[in-house]
Amino acid sequence: MEPLQSLPGTEDILPQRQSAGQAIKVADVTTWQRIEAMGRDILQRAAYQEIRTPIFELTRLFERGIGEATDVVGKEMYTFLDRGERSVTLRPEGTAGVVRAYVQHKLHGQGGVQRLWYTGPMFRYERPQKGRQRQFHQLGVEVLGSHDPRADVEVIALATDFLQALGLQTLTFHLNSVGTTADRQQYREALVAYFTPYQAELDADSRQRLNRNPLRILDSKDPKTQAIAQDAPSILDYLGPDSQRHFDQVQQYLNDLDIAYDLNPRLVRGLDYYTHTAFEIQSADLGAQATVCGGGRYDGLVEQLGGPATPAVGWAIGLERLSLLLEQLAPPPPNPVDLYLVSRGPAAEAQALRLAYQLRQQGMTTELDLSGAAFGKQFKRADRSGAIACLILGDSEAEIGTVQLKWLQSGEQIQLNQTALVNEAATWRQKLAAARNSQE
Ligand code: ATP
Ligand code: MG
Repeated sequence: MEPLQSLPGTEDILPQRQSAGQAIKVADVTTWQRIEAMGRDILQRAAYQEIRTPIFELTRLFERGIGEATDVVGKEMYTFLDRGERSVTLRPEGTAGVVRAYVQHKLHGQGGVQRLWYTGPMFRYERPQKGRQRQFHQLGVEVLGSHDPRADVEVIALATDFLQALGLQTLTFHLNSVGTTADRQQYREALVAYFTPYQAELDADSRQRLNRNPLRILDSKDPKTQAIAQDAPSILDYLGPDSQRHFDQVQQYLNDLDIAYDLNPRLVRGLDYYTHTAFEIQSADLGAQATVCGGGRYDGLVEQLGGPATPAVGWAIGLERLSLLLEQLAPPPPNPVDLYLVSRGPAAEAQALRLAYQLRQQGMTTELDLSGAAFGKQFKRADRSGAIACLILGDSEAEIGTVQLKWLQSGEQIQLNQTALVNEAATWRQKLAAARNSQE
């Protein structure tokens, strides 16, 4: 049978294995682990708690939450009938599910502000290209229950901190306010009046949106539409006094934290639920798919999804785009094993299995060779494994309960009692760590 391939727009994230000096180049999981560990660390320090919601939900949740006129709901969702004839959808983003969980479990009943974060795969049927996939991953935060512009700036600062901690520098931060629904009422009319004379020149999607949802035209990726939109009226001229005050305060706090930003009145974001603050962080190194992080305030969403009126603000970072950027930086460190255990012969193999098990229980990172091949072949693999030392168990060792320990760099070899090695694992761990440090 022809071997099967993964679907377009999906990717395997493969393990990386470092052999003496040369990395086997694959899209590797160590970059991902670095991103996840850094995110967890930074968010925990700011008192955010992780939430995990299902990967599929009722289709209605996204239709209502994200907005029917958006690209995501209109043409990107993976929607199907399950065997119970329910229309379900693989989540295209994280916020709707988090808000659904917040309402369902009455997290608002706990009072105060909820600070949440999540990470996981998202699904959108898009044209696959570099930095744009059908299954992709996001890490996101949501702060529910605060109107305070300091909440907007707290989440923005977390995003910039996170990206900087990962070593990214060529980033630009675009900021806008999309005001309230009431502010946008008048703005919509101004947009319709502006775009109508250009109707024939707009891309097909934008033409359709002219009367349904003209703000979406500003988000069009079509170059001609973008050029026309350059001179469109600015939302910033339509903000009511409360929106203006909120936006001024956000900018003031950003200045206080020395976070640089570009005001971009055409930034409206792809989802309908945003109010007030909207922002994106872009990188000059990503080509067409430049946006690594998108977010903003969404004061109406909780109520729209059946909960009590609750202000909220959040963002999501696209991890594929982030890992593309990180791969341009220094390669991540390999995942080192301390000991590589080779053995041959039935008694020795059985003891090796047990010894590896016991050493791991003592906190030693131990890889057991399962090949049953000649010792020479197993030694070659030991060299490639990146281990500091090799443990060798043959017939003669098995007979008297010993094992040979060979330092792979010097070739020096000593005989140890198996039980003694396990009992003195703490000391051996220190010796191996010291040897690794002196190698680096
Ligand atoms: P774009 O304008 O690039 O389509 P978007 O506005 O649809 O992005 P959001 O829904 O705000 O994106 O998602 C937040 C982030 O998730 C994006 O900035 C991006 O980094 C990432 N992202 C969105 N869609 C994809 C995708 N299909 N593949 C990879 N990453 C994605
Ligand atoms: Mg999109």
